[in-house]
Amino acid sequence: MTGSPMNLDTLAVHAGRDDLTPLGVHALPIDLSTTNPLASIEQGGTSYDALASGGTVPASGSAVYERLWNPTVARFEAGLARLEHAEAAVAFASGMAALTAALLAFASATGKRHVVAVRPLYGGTDHLLASGLLGTEVTFCRPDEVAASRRPDTGLVIVETPANPTLELVSIAAVVAQAGEVPVLVDNTFATPVLQNPLDHGAALSMHSATKYLGGHGDAMGGIIACAEAHAEMLRPIRAITGAILHPLAAYLLHRGLATLPVRVRAQQENAGRVAAWLAEQPGVDEVLYPGLDGDPHGIIGAQMAGPGAMVAARLSGGAEAAERLTSSVRVFTHAVSLGGVDSLIENPAALTHRPVASDAKPDAGIVRLSIGLESADDLIADLEQGLRRH
Ligand SMILES: *Cc1c(COP(=O)(O)O)cnc(C)c1O
Repeated sequence: MTGSPMNLDTLAVHAGRDDLTPLGVHALPIDLSTTNPLASIEQGGTSYDALASGGTVPASGSAVYERLWNPTVARFEAGLARLEHAEAAVAFASGMAALTAALLAFASATGKRHVVAVRPLYGGTDHLLASGLLGTEVTFCRPDEVAASRRPDTGLVIVETPANPTLELVSIAAVVAQAGEVPVLVDNTFATPVLQNPLDHGAALSMHSATKYLGGHGDAMGGIIACAEAHAEMLRPIRAITGAILHPLAAYLLHRGLATLPVRVRAQQENAGRVAAWLAEQPGVDEVLYPGLDGDPHGIIGAQMAGPGAMVAARLSGGAEAAERLTSSVRVFTHAVSLGGVDSLIENPAALTHRPVASDAKPDAGIVRLSIGLESADDLIADLEQGLRRH
C-alpha cells in the first residue's frame, strides 16, 4: 500500500491495514492492553524515551503503556493520514481533545499564545477559545481579516470550512496566504477527506471530530489531526501527558467506518441536494444555507471541494417558534445534536450546539441545521413537509 498512488475509494478500504496479512488476520485486530511486557529495562527505557518525545514505537521496541501508544489507534491514524494526503495523524478521545492538544502544542507550549480564529466555528471551539482556559488569547475575525489579526506572538490560525452552522465556504489557500509563517488548522469535520484535503491547499493541520462522518454510525467518539510527522511529534507528547488518547474500541469502529466513508458521503450528499432544493421552495423557509444552491460565491466547489456535502441549514420565517414546531414534529429525522451519521438529525444551533457562543456571533434563532443521512430522500422530504405544515 505504502507510496503507491491509489484512488480514495481503494485507500478508504485498505489504508492502515498493511500489517494484517503478516499478522495472519483479515479484520482489524483490537488490542486492549493498557500495558505491554518489556523485553528488558534497556528496551523499555529506550521505547519510553522515543514515545514521550513524540516519536513512534522504535523497531523491536515496546508500546510501553497505552497512554503513549496503541496499535489499534495507530492503524486508524495510518488510514486517515493516507486519506488526508498527510505523513501522519494523531488520534484523540474526542474532537475537543484534539483541538485542545493543537492549542497547547502550537500556542500555549510555544510561548506564542495568540490564536486567530475565523468565525463562525463549532460552538465548543468558539467557547474554548473565548474562555482562554488553555492560556491562549484569541482574535476572532472574518476570512479576509486574518492578516490584519495576526500578531508577532500568533501561534495558530483556525478556520472551519464548510462552517458550522452557516455552511459558509472559506478559501483555505487565501487564509494560508494571510497566515504567512503561522500554521493553519482547518476543521475538516463537515467536508471529510472525501470532499476536501486541507493539506493540499497549504493547511498544516486537518482536524476532525471523528465522532461525526468518519465513524458515521453515531456510536463512537473520537478526534484526529492529520499533519506532517514533525507536527505529529509536537502533538503526541501533549496527548501522552494530558491522557487524551483515543480508546482502541473506538479506534476500531472509526477505522472500520473509513471503509464506507466515500460511499456514505456521496449518497448522503445526493440526498442533501434534493432536500435543500425542496426546502428552498417552501413558503415557511426564508433561506436555505447549502453550498450546492447559491452558497458558493467564490467557486470553491470543484476547486477546493469535490462537492457541497450533506449538511443543510434553513432559516425559518417563523423564527425560534417555528424551529421548535419543526424539531418537535419530525418522525424520520431525530431531534438531536451531532451529525454525519447514517440517520438524519435536526437541531437548532442557537439553542444547542452554539449555545455558549457570544450573542453577537450566535446564529439566528430561526435556523435549523439538518444532517442528512441515508434514508430515502422522499421520506425525508415528506417528514419535513408534515413538520412545516404544523403552524
Ligand atoms: C462535533 C464537532 C467538534 C467537536 O468534536 P467532539 O468529537 O464532539 O469533541 C468540532 N468541530 C466540529 C465541526 C464538530 O461538528
